[in-house]
Amino acid sequence: MPTPHDALPFPTRPVRRVVIAGGGTAGWMAAAGLSRALGKAVEIVLVESEEIGTIGVGEATIPTLMTFHRLLDIKEQAFMAATQATVKLGIQFDNWRQVGHRYFHSFGTTGKDHWMANFVHFWRRGREEGVAEDYDQYCVELLAALENRFAHLPRNGVNYAYHLDATLYARYLRRFSESFGARRIEGRIVDVLTDATTGFIEAITLADGQRIEGDLFIDCTGFRALLIGQTLGVAFEDWSHWLLNDRAFAVPTVLAGDPVPYTRSIAEAGGWQWRIPLQHRAGNGIVYSSRHMDDDTARSTLLGSLDAEPLRDPIQLRFRPGQRQRYWHRNCVAIGLAASFVEPLESTTIHMIQRGIVRLLQSFPDVITPEGIDAYNAQLAGEMEHVRDFVILHYHATGRRDTDYWRTVATMDLPASLQARIDLFRETGNVFHVPMELFAENSWIQVMMGQGIEPRQFHPAARVMSPPDLARFLRDVQVQARRTVDGLPRHGDYLRQYCPAP
Ligand code: FAD
Repeated sequence: MPTPHDALPFPTRPVRRVVIAGGGTAGWMAAAGLSRALGKAVEIVLVESEEIGTIGVGEATIPTLMTFHRLLDIKEQAFMAATQATVKLGIQFDNWRQVGHRYFHSFGTTGKDHWMANFVHFWRRGREEGVAEDYDQYCVELLAALENRFAHLPRNGVNYAYHLDATLYARYLRRFSESFGARRIEGRIVDVLTDATTGFIEAITLADGQRIEGDLFIDCTGFRALLIGQTLGVAFEDWSHWLLNDRAFAVPTVLAGDPVPYTRSIAEAGGWQWRIPLQHRAGNGIVYSSRHMDDDTARSTLLGSLDAEPLRDPIQLRFRPGQRQRYWHRNCVAIGLAASFVEPLESTTIHMIQRGIVRLLQSFPDVITPEGIDAYNAQLAGEMEHVRDFVILHYHATGRRDTDYWRTVATMDLPASLQARIDLFRETGNVFHVPMELFAENSWIQVMMGQGIEPRQFHPAARVMSPPDLARFLRDVQVQARRTVDGLPRHGDYLRQYCPAP
């Protein structure tokens, strides 16, 4: 959609000063990435307001965070100790397919794939022959999660992510960024000044009168979207017709017992609850649709199901799912909640923050051009739409019809891209991974099967083996997974020795 700036000329000024507005997870991850990679070439200033604070949630991650840390040369043990992190091997979904049903989306690979056909085809034939166990029995990460075990393994390691304390993470990244030359300014932004000729942002003004000029501005002001939305007028594409939830309550509790290495997601009548164990406490919350569950019911559902003492009153959050029509406009790049948001069901926001930063570093301009901006926007929007489809899948492919909420999601029209994915899998058992798409075949298959979509056919490659060979193959994979898991220590014991709290 065009904006009033589109006909304006681009200045030829080189980018030497970067101003990051906002110091939540997005702001400090951006400061860390930029200062580590380009701190010697560009000046980096971050402005944040303690008075406004951060959103204060965002504790579950996915394995890609490790790539970001590797780029920055962040040491895992120090990071995990500083953020009280635990290991996350996946997500357990309770009551999503049916009340009383449970499945697991793990970060691991299930079984062994053939170049022609995913393991699911061999498993399907094994089921027909009566020689295959439950699909879950062929995945190391899934079995380890449910038995509360974890260790780093030297060969074919266990694939994992983290649960972390978001406030401690921002603090950790602040120290990191400052050590690479980023400068922090405390203050409330009260004005954003643009140039009438170019539509570029010239400076931001703080409540104490300070004026901070820059060549490139990164909007990390969260849902306020002070620069990209309020100042530059870039519209928000709303996805609430697919993703009904628009509110949440969050509350920390003391930790009941040893932390388990997975997130729990428990479906409710009009939303779902999360449970995220850290080393020092647990994060809990309920995400719900205000059209289907009132605030009092959501709050009491959350408080009534906690298994430990709350550490404070629940905080309420309101949100709208969707994305900016442009992630980068003129000399402003939005990262984090200012750019896009889908609910935390698959813990994808920190990942999208990281993608925004890595893409920005890869496309970092000497002089900003419309071509560079268009390429960046196409990449980010494409990645976000894949994430959106994957999250919608969990709702639509449900057998639940017990409330208006579940009847609505089960019968709604889908994005064409998602409908095609589901149809292909149901008919053929195939999922084809698209380049740069976050979730790979294993994730799609685990969630489709977990939600009750079973493929009608299997690939003829699974018929090449004789029935005894197929039975032996399946048994070997299962025995190997079992042996690996049996050799792992308890997750809590491992953390106490690997990254004890400072
Ligand atoms: P914020 O944390 O809101 O930070 C905004 C910053 O801008 C703050 O520093 C604020 O002070 C500053 N600011 C704003 N206005 C001004 C101003 N006028 N002047 C100066 N500074 C200003 N993500 C995950 O990856 N995993 C999860 O498990 C997860 N769970 C979530 C649960 C819920 C219910 C919600 C709503 C989100 C969740 N998220 C999760 C998303 C997560 O919150 C974000 O990934 C993360 O917190 C990034 O936020 P942010 O930095 O963009 O915004």
